[in-house]
Amino acid sequence: MFIRNYPLAKATSLGVGGPADYFARPATEAELISALQFAEQHDLNVIVLGYGTNVLVRSAGIRGLVIQMADNFAHVQVDGTTITASAGCLFSAVSKLAAYHRLTGLEFAVGIPGGIGGAVFMNAGAYDGEIGPLVRRVHFATAAGPGSWTRDEFSYSYRHSRVQQEKIVVTRVELELRPGSREEILAKMNDLQARRRARQPLEFPSAGSTFKRPAGHYVGPMIEQAGLKGFRIGGAEVSTKHAGFIINRGGATADDVLQLIQHIQREIKQRFNVDLEPEIRILGSL
Ligand SMILES: Cc1cc2nc3c(=O)[nH]c(=O)nc-3n(C[C@H](O)[C@H](O)[C@H](O)COP(=O)(O)OP(=O)(O)OC[C@H]3O[C@@H](n4cnc5c(N)ncnc54)[C@H](O)[C@@H]3O)c2cc1C
Repeated sequence: MFIRNYPLAKATSLGVGGPADYFARPATEAELISALQFAEQHDLNVIVLGYGTNVLVRSAGIRGLVIQMADNFAHVQVDGTTITASAGCLFSAVSKLAAYHRLTGLEFAVGIPGGIGGAVFMNAGAYDGEIGPLVRRVHFATAAGPGSWTRDEFSYSYRHSRVQQEKIVVTRVELELRPGSREEILAKMNDLQARRRARQPLEFPSAGSTFKRPAGHYVGPMIEQAGLKGFRIGGAEVSTKHAGFIINRGGATADDVLQLIQHIQREIKQRFNVDLEPEIRILGSL
């Protein structure tokens, strides 16, 4: 059930980072729970990964067990205006499925890479939409077994959700949508995808927006005004297309990316007196 010393660079969109001591890809809830029980019995730290599109794994890798919830854990069901999607369903694919079923509310998700589990953890969103308000129930697993939160028990805010506070693995999510016109839904999705292609450096590996948006400021323009567009450390570069993204120009290491993050934080603090908080989740041992 476990792979030893799994290279996590293969499991993240940035393509950097060291190995996981143990790596598991459960296909069922029962397999997931037994992996969590194994970790508990052996006192192993557990880290969950979806598609790794919002993480930076440090060069030393992760001591403990990494559980991947991706295409190994992806079932979806549509029932009236409710879509129930397993954690490993691609968020973008679920939004397209909603359009097919004439359900509106998920248009913003088209083009957001990664899975539903990661989206719920991050309260992923774009263009004035976010997943939080659509959640009807979150199902999860711990070593003690399965559980769930109702809409009222699941709290969220900008790029934050209750999942970040609790040691749980999201297994599936029920999303409540509204009936809509397929033509209007698809027109909105096409518009949002075109905007993404025009603004984001999708041709290079990245982990999306590096930093959270600080109240009253826009990250990309601040980094640009600080003269950092195109600034490189090793193979990590501040994108010349969108300064809010750090891209892997080829051969970047996790240390390159981390040093670039810290350099940007220092420059922005000095110039604008603003503290930039990473949106990217930085995982692993020092
Ligand atoms: C080009 C690009 C564009 C992007 N655009 C956007 C955007 O517009 N809006 C936006 O919000 N994000 C964006 N992102 C970031 C990212 O795609 C989203 O945050 C996505 O929802 C993360 O999903 P994932 O499966 O890749 O999660 P991962 O990156 O694998 O994990 C993210 C976090 O969630 C946790 N996690 C993952 N799955 C589970 C689970 N099943 N249970 C418990 N915890 C879990 C992980 O431990 C980690 O801390 C972008 C990324 C890229 C590369």
